[in-house]
Amino acid sequence: MTEAAESLSHPAYAKLRAVTDTASVLLADNPGLLTLEGTNTWVLRGPRSDELVIIDPGPDDDEHIARVAALGRIALVLISHRHGDHTDGIDKLVELTGATVRSAGSGFLRGMGGHLTDGEVIDAAGLKIKVMATPGHTADSLSFLLEDAVLTADTVLGRGTTVIDNEDGSLADYFESLRRLGGLGRRTVLPGHGPDLADMEAVVEEYLNHRQQRLDQVRSALGDLGEDATARQIVEHVYVDVDEKLWDAAEWSVQAQLDYLRRD
Ligand SMILES: [Zn+2]
Repeated sequence: MTEAAESLSHPAYAKLRAVTDTASVLLADNPGLLTLEGTNTWVLRGPRSDELVIIDPGPDDDEHIARVAALGRIALVLISHRHGDHTDGIDKLVELTGATVRSAGSGFLRGMGGHLTDGEVIDAAGLKIKVMATPGHTADSLSFLLEDAVLTADTVLGRGTTVIDNEDGSLADYFESLRRLGGLGRRTVLPGHGPDLADMEAVVEEYLNHRQQRLDQVRSALGDLGEDATARQIVEHVYVDVDEKLWDAAEWSVQAQLDYLRRD
């Protein structure tokens, strides 16, 4: 698999890295605090197919989108969730390839594919791809299941932890999504940012433990600071071990935790 991808001399393949027999990744050049090394654009292809399924075009970056477009005939583009680092490149990619784009929300539909729904099985590029609603990071977050792997986008990252979006994210939904993903058993994690991971079950356990720890910390901070402490006060109290550059993002997470705790 790796050799196959690497032996192709077309410049579009220069950055393509095969991860499983059917999934390769093209890293976008948008590194950052929340995007890690950049957005992973996933390229799926069944063993005997000459078509591709693309998961997340990535940011609006001419070079990246041109690379994606040059990989081959795109049967379908699937969108994991609404954030711009996954979706801003859609129109450029559609312009170059005419590809159909499907997503959970309405804003990103192109062509006649329609909305993606939980449990739907997509038959494309020689693959069966099962759509799984995994809200939490955002309300529209989806994961995509392959036989031996799961594309988790920002629900499970290759490194660090996921931020709960302050607009429509929800920690209660996120816990539920993690439990559903963990229930899938041992599978390779193909995340939206950062490296692929060997075992979904183990990662989910880590994530749940980490979240529980943070919740316990927020609970005890509320004990120290008073029940009506703000998210910012709690960040400054609890996240002393975290790089200050991440405090704004941490504030979103703490707000999500406060919403979760105060809802109970
Ligand atoms: Zn995101």
